Amino acid sequence: MRSFSYGRADSVQSAVKDIAGNQAAPDAANATVKLVAGGTNLLDLMKADVMRPVRLVDITRLPLKTIEETAEGGLRLGALMTNADTAYDERVQARYPMLSKAILAGASAQLRNMATNGGNLLQRTRCYYFYDTATPCNKREPGSGCGALHGVNRIHAILGVSEHCIAVHPSDMAVALAALDATVRVTGPGGERAIPIGEFHRLPGDTPHIDTTLRADEIITGIELPAQGFAAHSTYLKARDRASYAFALISAAVALELDGGTIREARLALGGVAHKPWRDRAAEAALAGQPATRDSFRAMADAVLRDAKGYEHNSFKIDLARSVILRAFEEAAGLEPS
Ligand code: SF4
Repeated sequence: MRSFSYGRADSVQSAVKDIAGNQAAPDAANATVKLVAGGTNLLDLMKADVMRPVRLVDITRLPLKTIEETAEGGLRLGALMTNADTAYDERVQARYPMLSKAILAGASAQLRNMATNGGNLLQRTRCYYFYDTATPCNKREPGSGCGALHGVNRIHAILGVSEHCIAVHPSDMAVALAALDATVRVTGPGGERAIPIGEFHRLPGDTPHIDTTLRADEIITGIELPAQGFAAHSTYLKARDRASYAFALISAAVALELDGGTIREARLALGGVAHKPWRDRAAEAALAGQPATRDSFRAMADAVLRDAKGYEHNSFKIDLARSVILRAFEEAAGLEPS
């Protein structure tokens, strides 16, 4: 591990001041002065020499550890609240059960006790080549190539890929937040701004080293959930290699508003398929007004996966995604699993 200096922020403003020198970096992932809270991913990456910050600013003492009601009837989750405290909060469990379930499907109990909500959004891909500094990786070292493209790509993307990167985003929490249309609140030198969760993570394109639209001189302060939590008809379903602790091969956050047996509104966000939680709003809109039946949900799955493309080792993900989508919609609609 390379040496770095360490400091501690005592306010959001002082944290922003600490990272002001980062402006030239393309996003927070590439900053040279990094904020650290739980450190569950950042410290691993530093030990592996994948990330090389020159300074860490400890933000664990900032007052961002509460859950508050918003004027719009939703909840604001503090950026430094742990994943565990968020998932077990009674308001989150009652009003956003899909989110609680998604968080508890992620990582291990020990990690959820350390990891924070803001850090969860900023965790980096678990692509094997990204962590192996002896191999090419455009995300770690722009222009070096992509080891996964013709390598072992079993866990990689099937949607939204580019020839430069086929990595997937590893978060479970972010998938549920995408289905809920959450908003990320951030503060920078120019003040506060709100980033819709759908615009927070990026597709790789020809700049896969840029993970998010969070600028290098900004800090996440909270995540706002809208009033509509789909508590009656929603779920999070995750298919993975080990039930005890593994990243998603495919996951689905599904939410429905039903009018009797008719779908009034449908949401579907997929994890494990792309460089960001994947939504297809046209396919969702096409479900509105349809009966809440397996045929409708199968048609939805076909529409969402119409452009899916597998690589040498991950073509199985397309069929698996179809099954996970169908099973999740069945669960959300209260149908027997087929
Ligand atoms: Fe790197 Fe992306 Fe290729 Fe993985 S998929 S080796 S993260 S460029």
